[in-house]
Amino acid sequence: MMNTQKLQFSRQLPIKRRCEVLVAGGGPAGVAAALAAKRSGADVYLIEGASCLGGMGTLGLVPCFMQFGDGVNFLADGIGREVHDRLWHAGGAGPDDRLDERYGHLAIQAEVLKVVYDDLLIEADVPFSLMTQLVAVEQQAGQVSTVICAAKSGMYAIQADVYIDCTGDGDLSAWAGAPFEKGDEQGNMMPGTLCSLWADVDWQAVRKSGELDDDFLPAAFEAGIFSVQDRHLPGMFRVGEHLAGGNVGHAFGVDATDEDSLTRALVQGRKTVREYEAFYKRFLTGYGQMQLAATGSLMGIRESRRIMGDYVLDLYDFKNRAVFDDEIGRYCYPVDIHAAQPSDESFANFMREFTELRYQPGESYGIPYRSLLPRGLRNVLVAGRCVSSDRYIQGSLRVMPGCYVTGQAVGAAAALSLAHAGEVRAISTAALQSRLLELGAYLPNARG
Ligand SMILES: Cc1cc2nc3c(=O)[nH]c(=O)nc-3n(C[C@H](O)[C@H](O)[C@H](O)COP(=O)(O)OP(=O)(O)OC[C@H]3O[C@@H](n4cnc5c(N)ncnc54)[C@H](O)[C@@H]3O)c2cc1C
Repeated sequence: MMNTQKLQFSRQLPIKRRCEVLVAGGGPAGVAAALAAKRSGADVYLIEGASCLGGMGTLGLVPCFMQFGDGVNFLADGIGREVHDRLWHAGGAGPDDRLDERYGHLAIQAEVLKVVYDDLLIEADVPFSLMTQLVAVEQQAGQVSTVICAAKSGMYAIQADVYIDCTGDGDLSAWAGAPFEKGDEQGNMMPGTLCSLWADVDWQAVRKSGELDDDFLPAAFEAGIFSVQDRHLPGMFRVGEHLAGGNVGHAFGVDATDEDSLTRALVQGRKTVREYEAFYKRFLTGYGQMQLAATGSLMGIRESRRIMGDYVLDLYDFKNRAVFDDEIGRYCYPVDIHAAQPSDESFANFMREFTELRYQPGESYGIPYRSLLPRGLRNVLVAGRCVSSDRYIQGSLRVMPGCYVTGQAVGAAAALSLAHAGEVRAISTAALQSRLLELGAYLPNARG
């Protein structure tokens, strides 16, 4: 039984750091935000709760990047392109990938990507600390004054002029009082997935067989291999000569803002991957010798809080290929909302949306600066999978190249806002667009 008693907690903490821009969370959005702020002249500090940079793409073992471009234009240009090219040149993409700047869809060798991110921040002289969790936020009248961190040295405070929330779950914004939404009207969210890494896959045999893994699911259901009959199988991705990155199985009902829920999902996820091992070994060619090398050290989370901002991007904007005066970038990935339940009906609905809500080459939607401004907060910006959007746009913009676009924008905006005492609504959007163009952003609708 959960104890609901409350305790007043008060103590003196060291103010360990002061900086102009504090970035919380070191996933794709956080890395891009920190780099863009630093390159725009700000004194930046980044805190990351886990043991490396990269978020879901490293700690979560997500096996590949979705498209960086729309088939014609490189949408995640600037910092996104830099990560893409560095990963490629460091040999961290998959053996089947091609360096095609129109699409830029790459497999991920997580250990290489971790070092790519380390190097990017170190070369740019951005200080950061790992294993440092944001745990509380102090604000008055929408002005955040201090954040509290918990780390190996204990608890301490950091003070900044501007705060950037790249926690993926919107922790900083929500704890500062910004409104947020979670899931659909009933609170159903996309399931998570504990991703995995497998050795000794015979990819030649896999390719030669031409078999599709999900064709064999009905037989496996019949054979009683799975504890949950889940029709949606993203599958195995070739991330190395004989390596596979597994995006297999769903943790239904996981809530990333609740550690008990996360604990259950992680424990169950480690069992679920074994069911998929049995499935691949028994039904598919080329996987007979496969060995589990690792599971993610973070639960793979597709959706949690969506922070409500001055503008809420929605399905209408997706369908209309929206253009905004205060556009900070564009993106194009289809609406990909994994069903909250494993029923056939939910899967059919997912397939319909995923097939229908997608673009032709060269098409994309704009992202306005206002969707990165948490309502009611004066010196806070948000980027990554928790930006202000409905579930449809979140289902598109949540993938990593989209997170570079919003991350880069908030980093540049935070630096510009320093001339206005950290007031993120005081900056000129034309100046922001100019700065973003200097950083290499793709901004065809920039004014001036
Ligand atoms: C199973 C799965 C498959 C996916 N497949 C793809 C794919 O194929 N291609 C693709 O491009 N995208 C894919 N995605 C989506 C993508 O990986 C994420 O949406 C993206 O990484 C989000 O980036 P982010 O920076 O917003 O958050 P994250 O990547 O989650 O990074 C957030 C970081 O903040 C840290 N953090 C969180 N809270 C705190 C705190 N309180 N204090 C300090 N640090 C904190 C976390 O440790 C983490 O490192 C997938 C996601 C999942 C879960």
